[in-house]
Amino acid sequence: MTLHISVSQINAEVGCPRERWYDKVEKIPRESKPSAYPQGSAGHKALEYFYANYDGTIPDDPYELAAVVQQALETDDTFTSIPVIYPYIKKSATNKREGYKEMEMQTYMLIKAFWQNPYMPAEVIDTEHKFTIQTPGGVDVIGYIDLIARDEDGTICIVDHKFIAKSSGTLKTFDGEGLTDDDDWPTVDTGMIEQLTPQMMIYGLYGTLTYGDPNVRLFHQEIVKNKKPVCRLLEFHRPPNYQQEVMELIDAMIDRIMNATKKSSPRIRSWRCGGCGWSTTCANDF
Ligand code: SF4
Repeated sequence: MTLHISVSQINAEVGCPRERWYDKVEKIPRESKPSAYPQGSAGHKALEYFYANYDGTIPDDPYELAAVVQQALETDDTFTSIPVIYPYIKKSATNKREGYKEMEMQTYMLIKAFWQNPYMPAEVIDTEHKFTIQTPGGVDVIGYIDLIARDEDGTICIVDHKFIAKSSGTLKTFDGEGLTDDDDWPTVDTGMIEQLTPQMMIYGLYGTLTYGDPNVRLFHQEIVKNKKPVCRLLEFHRPPNYQQEVMELIDAMIDRIMNATKKSSPRIRSWRCGGCGWSTTCANDF
């Protein structure tokens, strides 16, 4: 039997194993979803639209992208399935309708920030690219890459779009032995992120295996929910031989995911708790 593990499962394992436990092992339905989910998903759709129709130019105005956002929000089934909470919406939004309207407006502003400063590659190869990597142990790791492109000198560039709140400036990284908090969120000045995330490690490995290019460049295109939203491109620093580390990381994560027991699913309190869909369940378990 072939086992399938998604990159997002590996990511969730690194972020908070208990959250992954509730979601994937016990399969407890979410109590709620933060508005960041439909917002991020609508934002991703607008960027996918932009890059899928890419001709090296920027549209004259952001209207086309805003229309994609609006359609994505209107058809997002989150709003009909479970309660949506609006943690990052201003306090004057006193009811759901106001909360929704504020979120819609905020999403347009994020898209406008992207439109003002988008990443412009020399060539787009694919968007929402589905891939599979098979580990030596026969496990298929499945993921989706937001954007694969080429820069001016032909180097493959892999870009992950992130719609993030300013407050989420903490990265969970894997140091080979355990989980560490890296509080040093990179500054815009350097444009570099020092430690690769598991997700980007896996993307990098896929890029190298597929395109035969050991110098694949890895980026986060971040659209940041500041008062005045900004869009910035940050490149990941790639340590030498990180691809060896990737296989070890995948093996370690798969082992933990496959052997998860409630006892071995630690509760890692972090900024994620604010938007966690199982926060009440989690609090009641302690
Ligand atoms: S509330 Fe926090 S610690 Fe608990 S499962 Fe969610 S993210 Fe993990």
